[in-house]
Amino acid sequence: MPTADIEHAIKLLPKFSSIDPLLIVDQLAALVEQNRRDIDALRTNDGEISWDNFVAPFEEIGDRLSRFWSPIGHLHGVADSEHLRTAYTEAVQILTEYATELAQSDRLFAAFQRLRDSSKFDSLDRGQQKVIDNALRDFRLGGIDLDESGRARFRELNAELAALTTGFSENVLDATQAWEKNIDSLPKLAGLPENALGLAKQNAVRRDQSGYTLTLDHPSYGPVMAYCDNRDLRREMYDAYVTRASDQGPHAGRFDNSENIDRILALRHEIANLIGFPDYAEYSLATKMATSTRSVIEFLEDLAARSANAARRDFDQLSKFANDELGLDTIEPWDVAYCTEKLREQEFAFSGEELRPYFPVARVIAGLFKTVERLFGVTVQPIEGIDCWHPDVRVYAMSDDTGVLRGTFYLDLYAREHKRGGAWMDECIVRRARGETIQSPAAYLTCNFTPPIDENDSLLTHDEVQTLFHEFGHGLHHMLTLVDYAPVSGINGVPWDGVELPSQFLENWVWERAALDTISGHFETDEPIPDKLFKRMCIAKNFQAGLQMVRQLEFALFDFRIHAEFSPALSVQAVLDRVREQISVIEAPAYNRFQHGFSHIFAGGYAAGYYSYKWAEVLAADAFSRFEEEGVFNPDTGRSFRECILERGGSEDLMVLFEQFRGRGPHIEPLLAQAGLST
Ligand SMILES: [Zn+2]
Repeated sequence: MPTADIEHAIKLLPKFSSIDPLLIVDQLAALVEQNRRDIDALRTNDGEISWDNFVAPFEEIGDRLSRFWSPIGHLHGVADSEHLRTAYTEAVQILTEYATELAQSDRLFAAFQRLRDSSKFDSLDRGQQKVIDNALRDFRLGGIDLDESGRARFRELNAELAALTTGFSENVLDATQAWEKNIDSLPKLAGLPENALGLAKQNAVRRDQSGYTLTLDHPSYGPVMAYCDNRDLRREMYDAYVTRASDQGPHAGRFDNSENIDRILALRHEIANLIGFPDYAEYSLATKMATSTRSVIEFLEDLAARSANAARRDFDQLSKFANDELGLDTIEPWDVAYCTEKLREQEFAFSGEELRPYFPVARVIAGLFKTVERLFGVTVQPIEGIDCWHPDVRVYAMSDDTGVLRGTFYLDLYAREHKRGGAWMDECIVRRARGETIQSPAAYLTCNFTPPIDENDSLLTHDEVQTLFHEFGHGLHHMLTLVDYAPVSGINGVPWDGVELPSQFLENWVWERAALDTISGHFETDEPIPDKLFKRMCIAKNFQAGLQMVRQLEFALFDFRIHAEFSPALSVQAVLDRVREQISVIEAPAYNRFQHGFSHIFAGGYAAGYYSYKWAEVLAADAFSRFEEEGVFNPDTGRSFRECILERGGSEDLMVLFEQFRGRGPHIEPLLAQAGLST
C-alpha cells in the first residue's frame, strides 16, 4: 500500500501510453506559445522585481515544458518508431528556436541583472543566488552583451561551426565506411575469435562476396588488432584506421578533415574573443569546476609525471614478453593491442565470462539497493501498475531513513529493438518546490544488458554490474537532492567536469569484497565468488594501467592545449607531436592522424573538456578514500557524502561541497593508488 507521498508522486509521472506521436508537434507548439505569453506577462520592468514574482514563475514555465518534453525525448531513445522520429525531428526545431529566443532576450537578461543588483539579492539563499548567477553567466556566454553587429557575427560563427562539426563527423563516418578488405582464406585470419569471424562472414554475405570481409567499424577492427596473428594484416588495418579522414593513408585527401580542424579551432577562438575570453579554453572553463588553463595543464602534467614510470614499466614488460614469447624484435603500434592481449592471457588466464554465473540480475539489483541502504540510509521499494513504455520496465520509490519519499525511478535493463545502445541516467521530473508542496524527482535508468532467456534470470558480467552502479550513482545525485529550484537541483547546474563524481564514486563498491557478497551469488548454488577468482579479477583490473593512463592524458592534454594555445599559425600536428614527446611511451608513426577522427572534441561536447574524465576520477577516488579510512560501509561517512554532495546538486560550487565532505581540497594520490600507480 503506497504512502500518500508516493501516491502523490505517482500522479505526476508521465502517462506513456497516452503519448500520440501524431499529436506531439501540435501539442508542443501550443505549449511553447503558452510559455511565450506567460513570459511576456512576467513583471520585469519596475523596481518591484523579486524572486517570487519573476524567477519562480519563470522557472515554473520552464519546468512545465521540461515535463512535457522529457517522456517524448525518452521514448525517442528507448522505444523509437517511424512516426515518433518524424515528430521528434520537427519538435527539436521548435524547441531550439524557442531556446535561442530566450537566450537572446534582453528583457529577461535585464530582469535577472536588476534582481542581481538589488538589495534583495543578499537575502536570497545560496541556491537562489546560484540560479541567478548561472542565468546571467549563460546569457553572457550566449552573446547577450554584444551589440547588434556582434550578435550577428556570433550567430554566423555558431552556424558555421555547427556545419563544420557535422562535416567533421560525416567525414569520419564516410572514411570509416569507404575502407574494407575481403579475405578469402581462413588461415590468414588465424587467432580471430569465433564471433568476430562470424561478423566478417556476415559482412561478406551482405556484400555478395565470398570469404570474410573486414571493416574499420570497431566490432571488426578491434578484434583484428587484439587477436589476429597476421601481422601484415594488423599493420594494413592500423594504417587505414589511424589515417581516416586525413591527408595520409589509403584514402589520402578524400575525406580530409585537415581544413575542418583548423577552421573549427579558428571559429571557436573567435567566439571566445567576441565574448571577452582570451581563448576557447578559458571560455570552456567558464562553466566548469577547474578555474584556469594553468590549473588544468598542471593537473594533467602532474598526473602524467606520476604515471610515467608505471607506463614505461608496462611497456618494458610488454616488449620483453613480445621478444621472449612472440619472437618480435620491436613492438610496433599495430602490435600493442595484440601483445597486450597475449600477455593478459598468460598472466591471468582470466575472462569476464567466468564471473557471469555469480551475477544473476535479481540478486544484483537487490544487492545494489541493500548497498545504498547501508551507505545512505535510503530504502527502495517497487511500485506496481505504473504506465510504462515496455513490460520489462520496473518502477521503484526511494525513501530516506525518516520514511520521507525522495524520488522514484524507472529501471529499463535489457537491450531490445528500437532502443538506443549504451547506458544512461536521464531526468524525468526534477525536484522543486511548488508553493507548499515538493515536486519529487523521477529518473530514468537505462541499460542494455543481455535479456533473460526462457524463464531464467539474466546473468550479468562484472562490467555490466559496474555500469549499473555507475548509472545508479547519477540517479542518486538526481533523486536525493534537497534543492528546491529546478535549475540547480539534482544534476542541474553541476559542472561538466564534476558531474561524473557520484557515478564513478559508486562504482567502487563493485570492487569491495563485502559489497560483492551482497550483490553476487552463484545462480545455481548461491555460492559467493571464490577468493581466487576475486583476486584475479582485482589484478586484471589494473593490468597495464600506466599505459592506459598516459594514453588518456595524451588526448586530454592535446585537446586542452590546441584550444588554449590557438593562433592562426598554430600547427595542430606540431602540438600533438610535442604532447606525445612529453608523455607518450609508445611512439606513433609520423603518418598517424589520430586527431582527424577525434570526434569527441571536434564534433562533440568535449572541446577543451576532455580532461573532465580524469578530473572527475580524481574527485571520485579521493571521496572514496575517506570510506577506505573510515570503513566502506560506515553510515556516518555515507551520511556525510549524502548531505555534502548528493543533496546539494548545483546549489553551491562543487569544489566547496567537496571540501566540506573531505575536509580539504582533492588529492590525486587515491586515484593513483586505486590504479596501482603509486610510487
Ligand atoms: Zn556517467
